[in-house]
Amino acid sequence: MIKTDVVIIGAGPVGLFAVQQLGLIGLKAEVIDNLDKIGGQCIELYPDKPIYDIPALPMCTGESLTQNLLEQIKPFKTNFDLSQRVEKISRENNNWQIITSKKNIFLTPNIIIAAGVGSFEPRKFSVQGIEKFENSGVFYSIKNKTFFKNKKISIFGGGDSALDWAIELSKIANITLVHRRNEFRGAEHSEAIVRKLDKEGKIKIKTPFQLKSVEGKDKITSITIENEDGKAEKINTDCLLGFFGLIMKLGPIAEWGLNLDKKTIPVNTETFQTNKEGIFAIGDICTYPGKLKLILSGFHEGALAARACFKLARPNEKYRFEFTTTSKTLQERLGIKKSD
Ligand SMILES: Cc1cc2nc3c(=O)[nH]c(=O)nc-3n(C[C@H](O)[C@H](O)[C@H](O)COP(=O)(O)OP(=O)(O)OC[C@H]3O[C@@H](n4cnc5c(N)ncnc54)[C@H](O)[C@@H]3O)c2cc1C
Repeated sequence: MIKTDVVIIGAGPVGLFAVQQLGLIGLKAEVIDNLDKIGGQCIELYPDKPIYDIPALPMCTGESLTQNLLEQIKPFKTNFDLSQRVEKISRENNNWQIITSKKNIFLTPNIIIAAGVGSFEPRKFSVQGIEKFENSGVFYSIKNKTFFKNKKISIFGGGDSALDWAIELSKIANITLVHRRNEFRGAEHSEAIVRKLDKEGKIKIKTPFQLKSVEGKDKITSITIENEDGKAEKINTDCLLGFFGLIMKLGPIAEWGLNLDKKTIPVNTETFQTNKEGIFAIGDICTYPGKLKLILSGFHEGALAARACFKLARPNEKYRFEFTTTSKTLQERLGIKKSD
């Protein structure tokens, strides 16, 4: 069990800046995210796109903003618990107990929900009976590519992930790339490579086809694909990879007894506390009159929520407002000045 002053759900830009605000006032945070990487929407949806409205940064990208936020919280040596969704929250005396999909347990007086628009989850195949093969023969991401060595793999999708993995795995496996349209959506350069590999017989491209059925008892032996005219083809296959993009789901947050307004959590704007004591919501997931779904608003919300967390994490101490410019204590926490 991990005990900490604050658990932050969501490693998006707002969760990251909250770590800094908590660290400055001497509180330790643990950050949990469903994704396998840090950065939330900035990294998952627009890593290369320019952002022009972060205060004092005339231009940054989703990726450089994330890197800068990580640099800013380096002194606090924060633990990130990635690739796991927070599933359950329950009250344990004066603390909250959090359980994740990896069955990790956290105990904390404060939870900051910085979960954006919910957890990103892969869009899945809709063919009947396919769920039973998930993680043994059907995958929506690749953790370890050596698992696929020498296998017969059917990759579905027309975007960058499908093209990039088709190219990469063609070096170690037998690849069929299936897409429902003749045109791919991914980078032109990647499409050119895939088409070249197809000509050289190193990849088979099947378009415009969709998955119709999966055959096999305990493991997949073949699949059937079909085009718009009803023409079907059977393909011997060990594994299916689906790259259809991500959907965002509020997920288990809806079951934690919090007041909800559509898919957002109403908060008190003095503390950003929800209807439950010790549970705060900041960033895109929270709502209040005048809420702007901008990163800069989330930074402000995190600063106020952090001060409110202090009261529950340090009930016998008094919070003192200080500036980083002049406070020796804050500068020590930032690793700027050593103690006398
Ligand atoms: C294309 C695009 C361009 C944009 N451009 C701008 C811009 O120029 N300026 C601007 O200010 N804003 C912009 N935005 C909006 C901005 O990205 C969001 O306001 C910001 O990402 C919100 O940050 P967040 O930390 O609240 O949530 P997110 O970035 O959504 O991060 C939330 C994280 O929580 C995780 N999570 C959710 N539920 C759980 C759970 N149960 N367990 C574990 N983890 C969970 C998710 O996996 C995710 O990583 C843009 C958005 C998009 C899509």
